[in-house]
Amino acid sequence: VTLFANTTTRLYTQLAQREGLLPIRVTKHYQTIVQEEVAALGHDRGPLFKVAYPTPERLMLRAPDEVPDFVADQQNMPEGLQDIMIRKYRNRVLFLLTDRCAGHCMYCFRQDVLVNQHARTSSDISDRLNRLITYLQEHPEIQEVILSGGDPTNAPFADLDLTLSRLRTETSIKDIRVHTRNAVYAPQALSDRTCRLFGQHNVRLVLHIVHPYELTSETVDAIERAKSRGIRCYSQFPVLRGVNDHASVLAELLTRLDDLAIRPLSLFVADPINYSAPFRVSLHRLFAIMDDLNWHTSAWVNSVRLVLDTPIGKVRREDITSWDSDSGVVVFRRDGAQVIYRDFPESLDDPGDVDILLWKGQR
Ligand code: SF4
Repeated sequence: VTLFANTTTRLYTQLAQREGLLPIRVTKHYQTIVQEEVAALGHDRGPLFKVAYPTPERLMLRAPDEVPDFVADQQNMPEGLQDIMIRKYRNRVLFLLTDRCAGHCMYCFRQDVLVNQHARTSSDISDRLNRLITYLQEHPEIQEVILSGGDPTNAPFADLDLTLSRLRTETSIKDIRVHTRNAVYAPQALSDRTCRLFGQHNVRLVLHIVHPYELTSETVDAIERAKSRGIRCYSQFPVLRGVNDHASVLAELLTRLDDLAIRPLSLFVADPINYSAPFRVSLHRLFAIMDDLNWHTSAWVNSVRLVLDTPIGKVRREDITSWDSDSGVVVFRRDGAQVIYRDFPESLDDPGDVDILLWKGQR
């Protein structure tokens, strides 16, 4: 915080305490790349700064119908597993191994869950694991466990080791996924020891990388350490206004991920949660960006889906059943259920400037 302490960061700190937002937390590694960006641009309106530090827009811009928890994480924690597990699908669950992240993303769409968890005393790992394992044993239809959080690679190594060992020896689940942003925030967290552990347990690693300039040499080294242990690497990330909301930025990022043999899974529409307005993009513009990407890049770059995570699961453009342009109300239908989404108003959707977003120059 001290690195960019100013009126905005001070006001944000007060706002975060009052409104239950994540406080500013920036790792040394990320501070370095933000400093490089600020020095190159001569101002703090660049994409990496916006990821890590509050902007004046973050304090003031609100959109109608923002909610604390759009995807209903809190309602999908089964009885006895509050703050431990989220189940929204028949065959997979998400285990909240830790509530801590090395760095805090200003755009985080799980702020509500994390801040609530920070406020409560977490029970110890053995108790939480016992409850998870019992639940999985009682529900053999669950085939996949996603370790998320918080950032699982931020948990003590012993907790990770115990979790993976017990999942593999005491349950019949087939697949384990670990979601992490630490390749970007704290590349040393993907240590040889951790990568070896992931390799032993056949973990799939899903890397959250939102901008091509986050792929520093340290981050690439961490990814190579994981790959050297035979770990399959994937990526997913949200499309964020002022960070990567341009087809050229997405093309650059997806091309670099392809160069590293990282398979992209999904691009996400930013959730309409409280104080998310600085990062949201209207659906019309998002679809135009995806069309641009599709028409002007190779298949290995554009073969990625855009999804909106909702209380009924992930929905796509083709799931839209009605769209009222005047009110911005969009209805999606999936598996017989429907969800109503209020689009981000186009009047507030000020696009990122590609010369700032790609300040090192376009390919
Ligand atoms: S790493 Fe993930 S969970 Fe943690 S603050 Fe960032 S987006 Fe949220």
